[in-house]
Amino acid sequence: MAAALTTISLPSLQKIASGKVRDLFSLPDPNALLFVASDRLSAFDVVMTNGIPNKGAILTLMSAYWFRVLSERIPSLRTHFISLDVPAGIPAEEASVVKNRSMQVRKLQVLKIEAIVRGYITGSAWKEYQARGTVHGLAMPQGMRLAQKFPSAIYTPSTKAEAGAHDENIHPDDAWKEIGDRETADKVEALALTIYKAAAAYAEERGIIIADTKFEFAKDAEGNIYLVDEVLTPDSSRFWRKDGYEVGKEPDSFDKQFVRNWLIKEGLRAKEGVTLPEDICVATGEKYKEAFYLLTGTKFEDAANN
Ligand code: ATP
Ligand code: MG
Repeated sequence: MAAALTTISLPSLQKIASGKVRDLFSLPDPNALLFVASDRLSAFDVVMTNGIPNKGAILTLMSAYWFRVLSERIPSLRTHFISLDVPAGIPAEEASVVKNRSMQVRKLQVLKIEAIVRGYITGSAWKEYQARGTVHGLAMPQGMRLAQKFPSAIYTPSTKAEAGAHDENIHPDDAWKEIGDRETADKVEALALTIYKAAAAYAEERGIIIADTKFEFAKDAEGNIYLVDEVLTPDSSRFWRKDGYEVGKEPDSFDKQFVRNWLIKEGLRAKEGVTLPEDICVATGEKYKEAFYLLTGTKFEDAANN
């Protein structure tokens, strides 16, 4: 198995932030930054000690693909994407590290909200519904079954916790308290739903159900709202295969669910310092590649060689 790249070392650039999966580096243009995806994998907000080979490149190329599709389908959409080009002037060994796994993006003030949209009931939404009949505090129809489609997609934000803490589900009416003002919060909600619907329709044509997904948004100095971060990847979304989908049954895992299921089975949910067995890493990598191929129509290896 090819080695996974869990640490990104770029001595010629200044690292400005490091998330669970990505490292952000400054670029000569003060309004841009280099957004680099490592092969690290997090589940239940904890990063595994080992990674998934090529995952960073798969996520980066998939996000870039979606930024293009979404911009075509929603012409008014602003995104942080600038280019997949390796920044000019960086040493060859650093260029080979970031090739395919980095995007030059607009540097923006990220809004403190995880803009989750759910088309189908599963995960924490299913748990809350079983316990209280609500989803993020929203009343839901009675008698819903696992994996059932909501009458229409719902916006179910969560807080964006600081490193080490867990995001908390909140009622959409409370999102403005995290974001700062109601006007921005309303725009984010409308935008998240519009993007989800466009993406879900696109994916459905390709045999994939986007059960739920998480977007992040940011503002520029003029107050314009941008779609940022990664988009519609297996890390930020639950993808289900349309074939074989059945209400009442947990759909076959098509993404990180694979890892989540293993962690739960082993009693390692949200435990620090977990090393995934090699077969789980290989199988997860294959799932990511399969999702890439189904959604983009191009094999990851071919996309990466371009
Ligand atoms: P977080 O909970 O902060 O999202 P994470 O562990 O998911 O943490 P990563 O995905 O590893 O984070 O790192 C990406 C980070 O970059 C996130 O904090 C995200 O909010 C931030 N980010 C995304 N797009 C931009 C942008 N255009 N400008 C500045 N920061 C950005
Ligand atoms: Mg993230």
